[in-house]
Amino acid sequence: MAEENQGNKETNPQSDRKPNNRSNNNRKPNASANTGANKGGKPNNPSKNKSRNRYRRQPTPIDENLKAFVQKNQEAHKQRLNPHYKLDLNSKAKIRVTPLGGLGEIGGNITVFETEKEAILVDVGMSFPDEDMHGVDILVPDFTYLRQIKDKIKAVIITHAHEDHIGAMPYLYKDMQFPIYATPLPLAMIGNKFDEHHIKECRKYFNPVVKREIYEIGEDFKIEWMHMTHSILDSSSLAITTDAGTIIHTGDFKIDHTPVDGYTSDLHRLAHYGEKGVLCLLSDSTNSYNPLPTPSELSVAPALDRIFAKAEGRVLLSTFSSNIHRVFQAIQYGIKYGRKICVIGRSMERNIEIAMQYDYIRLPKNAFVEADQISHMNDKEILIVTTGSQGEPSSALFRMSIGEHRHVKIKPTDLIVLSSRAIPGNEGSISGMLNHLQRAGATISREKDIHVSGHASIAEQKLMLRLVNPKFFLPVHGEYNHVMAHRETGMMCGVPERNIMIMNDGDQIEIASKYMRKVKTVKSGKTYIDNQNNRQIEDDIVLDRQKLASDGIVMLVAQVDAQHCKMQAKPKVTTFGIVADKQDKAFAKEMEDILENFLLHVKEGQIENPRALENDLRQIVRKHIYRKMKKYPLIVPHVLIS
Ligand SMILES: [Zn+2]
Repeated sequence: MAEENQGNKETNPQSDRKPNNRSNNNRKPNASANTGANKGGKPNNPSKNKSRNRYRRQPTPIDENLKAFVQKNQEAHKQRLNPHYKLDLNSKAKIRVTPLGGLGEIGGNITVFETEKEAILVDVGMSFPDEDMHGVDILVPDFTYLRQIKDKIKAVIITHAHEDHIGAMPYLYKDMQFPIYATPLPLAMIGNKFDEHHIKECRKYFNPVVKREIYEIGEDFKIEWMHMTHSILDSSSLAITTDAGTIIHTGDFKIDHTPVDGYTSDLHRLAHYGEKGVLCLLSDSTNSYNPLPTPSELSVAPALDRIFAKAEGRVLLSTFSSNIHRVFQAIQYGIKYGRKICVIGRSMERNIEIAMQYDYIRLPKNAFVEADQISHMNDKEILIVTTGSQGEPSSALFRMSIGEHRHVKIKPTDLIVLSSRAIPGNEGSISGMLNHLQRAGATISREKDIHVSGHASIAEQKLMLRLVNPKFFLPVHGEYNHVMAHRETGMMCGVPERNIMIMNDGDQIEIASKYMRKVKTVKSGKTYIDNQNNRQIEDDIVLDRQKLASDGIVMLVAQVDAQHCKMQAKPKVTTFGIVADKQDKAFAKEMEDILENFLLHVKEGQIENPRALENDLRQIVRKHIYRKMKKYPLIVPHVLIS
């Protein structure tokens, strides 16, 4: 029996003792019933003996030596988990981090890392405009702060080739130039942009790097590119080492243990830095809400296989043109089922070409056919890989959907596969395109598991935090709520709340081994770009367009006789977006009355200054229209004085 007790104790010493003690103390009625039974002379039953023995059992002797080793192990855990012990707390060195884009938004990533004398930029990305930024195609970060510190900047460092990390490069390089350090694919894609923008000569700033090698940049920075898996090939995290310590910047990442090319994320290097001691981690927050691990890129393969196995006619597959591995997998299944590949859409053609030129993917040349050949081919032998997964009106798939593509007319036997998610804000245009495609008779594939994200979910964010084990943590890349969710994950993974900071664009954060604090705010914002001419659109133009779109415009032309303070003829009133054509006359009459009334009360001398007069008139008309219509249209008065 003692042995049995001993066995119990070994399996769960705490629970064995405490609940029994508690039940003895608390369960008075039971206890008295037992006592009563004993008094009656009945023999104790064995189970009661057992419980009493356990209660009286002598404590197990403590082996002091073992106890010392428990303490030693606790100390080892402390040493391993607490980054304090790995940083030089006496160092006076510090580094400043300033995001100029990418916080409070998805996209437009650009961050400045700055020592006393030198600075580097990490990524120079673009973002997309809101719907009310009429005629604006892309947004690039405001470069004002970069102009201020231009002489300090030693290099631009690129993590990967997505537009939201390299898209603003040509706009920066038209203004100022620095050496560019990146792995080959981002450089090839930046090179294309430079060519398109007629600044080919800027390719001379290219410095291709090899992952796992450490590059000295300027006197203050040592940088290592570490391979990461993401929805574009050749992505990297960065280890940026200065006198203040090492900062790990993840770039965009997910942790794919079975990537299509076999190149897994370089967890060993992350762990290496984590082991040495990391001052600060900047990590991707895009998928901060997703509790399930992001599936491998390879996980779309079964769905692709099913699609191609069943398809009777042509297959038209669209995805992000930068997702080369997705396109590669689709092409492989196309080939498996005896199809030839026709690539349509400028960015898709170019990206596949680059990936093949630089040996990132290998595909037989004879697998491809030109768009003008497909009309002579059997439908079952065709896979069209094309752009337009977001329903962009200028994309190839959209043009096919409305019957305006030169080579491809949609047929009732066509199967459309959108292997992508809708970027928030694009749902409407995607749905519109699907309507067109279905009206034209095509079938839309409803196959699930045809897309996976390229960003780390909570599980992978945790792994990153644990591998790097930073003292300070700056969640980046994401809207405010994404970054806040990532902050929670950081706290769960051992970073104290006070060591985590939520940054906004323009915030300058100073980090030293003993502290992290915000020191100032620099100018940040967006520059509007018109893609037709790759030029900037001034802010006031966009504001005017917003006003025109929401409230319309009123133009007034009046000829005033200065001597008699009278109108010489009826004012000419033209409106757009404010009154219907048939009401123009009545509206003109109203304006006439306002003008007449205004002229009656005009002060001496005021009439000689047409500009002031126009201004006054604008105010009066504005008030009148607001009273009547609750609108503030653009008002353009022209007063001609004679
Ligand atoms: Zn990315």
